[in-house]
Amino acid sequence: MHEYSIAYDIYTTARRAALENKANLVKRIHVDIGEMALVNPEQVEFLFLAISEDDPLFKGATLDCRPVVPKARCVCGYEGDEVFVCPTCGAMPELTQGREIVVTSLEIDVDGA
Ligand SMILES: [Zn+2]
Repeated sequence: MHEYSIAYDIYTTARRAALENKANLVKRIHVDIGEMALVNPEQVEFLFLAISEDDPLFKGATLDCRPVVPKARCVCGYEGDEVFVCPTCGAMPELTQGREIVVTSLEIDVDGA
């Protein structure tokens, strides 16, 4: 399932970052989800909670998904939010953002802090 592998990716990325920063608890994970990534953020969050629930590092952790509006750039010089057909020349523009799924930041508790 598409959403499952995305949720699992978020979990492993957040876990690695948390350990690198000596976290003893992850409280919140901020994720950018491109609207062109064709995933359902609620489903990703649900699956993330299911994956992380047995991990004490993620006890009570929540996901904060932020939608990223698609942007495109065309060879003719057009840049904007028309991602399928260029309004200037009619060619298919190149998607420059909106397909990504990225963990942008973590809110953590650190030992001894
Ligand atoms: Zn164009």
